[in-house]
Amino acid sequence: KSFAESGLPEEVLECCKNFDKPSPIQSHSWRFLLDGRDFIGIAATGSGKTLAYGIPAIMHVLNKRSGKTSKRVNPLCLVLSPTRELAQQISDVLCDAGKHSGVKSVCLYGGTSKGPQISSLKSGVDIVIGTPGRLKDLIEMGVCYLKEVSFVVLDEADRMLDLGFEPEVRSILSQTSSARQMVMFSATWPLPVHQLAQEFMDPYPVKV
Ligand code: AMP
Repeated sequence: KSFAESGLPEEVLECCKNFDKPSPIQSHSWRFLLDGRDFIGIAATGSGKTLAYGIPAIMHVLNKRSGKTSKRVNPLCLVLSPTRELAQQISDVLCDAGKHSGVKSVCLYGGTSKGPQISSLKSGVDIVIGTPGRLKDLIEMGVCYLKEVSFVVLDEADRMLDLGFEPEVRSILSQTSSARQMVMFSATWPLPVHQLAQEFMDPYPVKV
């Protein structure tokens, strides 16, 4: 499958201009995610998984954008990452991918002061990328409101649970819209991840 066959707008595909074709995880996930389905991807770093969910997240924002107003007070998409390093990496990819269509991503992680993160939230946000601890703090402070989030990604879900973030993940998910589309990426498929997916997602098996 080629990028042209994906039917995605040119400004969204701009970030892929140096690639020959969508990676396998990208062509599979785009098909389902652009159709509004929940999706579980078993994929490791290096597979192109960030754009596999990142481009559908950007499309989710563009589809919900009404008129010409592009500045949003509350995010529409949330990407949860187990570590600060991964969150920053995701944020770099999504900031670049969204810049041609004016989709704004903000990255929230611990170990650094909250002030600049709060300011960037206040200047308008479409997609939040965050680590569970800092995100929970900012929600409790009332500066990050997730009720309008209708597209959620759990990246490296297995690592998230290994690091003990299950209570935070559950609490954060409960703050998002009940009509959300949910995506999970995991390198492995252990029982706790399986159980979390069963509880929060509604995927259907498809042979690819
Ligand atoms: P990720 O798995 O998202 O961390 O991506 C790993 C690397 O693959 C990154 O350097 C991306 O820029 C690159 N990449 C993403 N999509 C493609 C693609 N369709 N073709 C070639 N490389 C890609």
